[in-house]
Amino acid sequence: MRYLVTGAAGFLGYHLSARLLRDGHQVVGMDNFHSGTEANIQALAAHAGFRFVQHDVTVPYDQAVDVVCNLACPASPPHYQKDPIYTAKIAFLGTLHALENAERHQAKLLQASTSEIYGDPLVHPQPEGYLGNVNSVGPRACYDEGKRLAETICADFQRLGRVDARLVRIFNTYGPNMRLDDGRVVTNFLLQALRGEALTVYGDGSQTRSFCYVDDLIEGFLRVLAAPTNLGPVNLGNPTEFTMLELAQAVQAEVGMVTPIQYRPLPVDDPKQRCPDIAKARAHLQWQPTVELAEGLRRTTAYLRPLSQR
Ligand code: UDP
Repeated sequence: MRYLVTGAAGFLGYHLSARLLRDGHQVVGMDNFHSGTEANIQALAAHAGFRFVQHDVTVPYDQAVDVVCNLACPASPPHYQKDPIYTAKIAFLGTLHALENAERHQAKLLQASTSEIYGDPLVHPQPEGYLGNVNSVGPRACYDEGKRLAETICADFQRLGRVDARLVRIFNTYGPNMRLDDGRVVTNFLLQALRGEALTVYGDGSQTRSFCYVDDLIEGFLRVLAAPTNLGPVNLGNPTEFTMLELAQAVQAEVGMVTPIQYRPLPVDDPKQRCPDIAKARAHLQWQPTVELAEGLRRTTAYLRPLSQR
């Protein structure tokens, strides 16, 4: 099958493309390097089935494929807040153009949605039916509301019978090939520990997240696409919840370096708790994460260690 992966130079786009190529498919990778890295594309270009198209998804495009996987969007808070108007354009126009391309070629579509749909949730853990608690004028809104509108147009294309658009709500994911300057907690803590620096904990470190290893997530993507019917939004993430202080300890244990904790102010609208309810994915896709945090941190550390001293 021929797949288009938008955001192929990004963390998830890279891993999805690599998995599809390993499975024998052809992949067109699209990116404009707004937040992705050329090294990811160079690694993918080693496969004969890969073709790269440098393109900005806010501009319409035409690619004849069987499946469109729309992953293009900066996803780390410091990156998506740097140019919030452009982030909102990518989320909306990028998804619209992906849907239009899918419709033109009668392709199925996979939309990378996000747990940010739930905002700072008042229900815990979050099932797909929870409608969320999002601040529409806060600094995270360009991403959160952009991704919510992206879900809306996917659902409308679906309702109108124009595209079979499948929605995955991605919770915190980590693994090799994340950008070193991603600014997210797993990469920050691992690099800080590897460099013998203090770990920067925002707030008092009691806020929680659940961390899914990237290979588990990609398997979830493929199961959502392969499902005989469109299940509506599907949460994909690891339901084991950790506070940021617990994560700091797990990182120190993995790296073998106990460095001090440096407390910093909690960013505005930073969700206090986040944990997926994955009952839907379990029941309909027989999917659940298989890689424990310690093992995932071990694999990610193996990737980051040689890069951390540069
Ligand atoms: N965080 C932290 N130290 C860091 C980076 C992030 O304590 O160096 C916190 C952040 O405030 C949030 C959690 O870790 O509560 C996860 O942040 P991240 O940016 O990784 O992802 P988010 O889930 O907020 O999109």
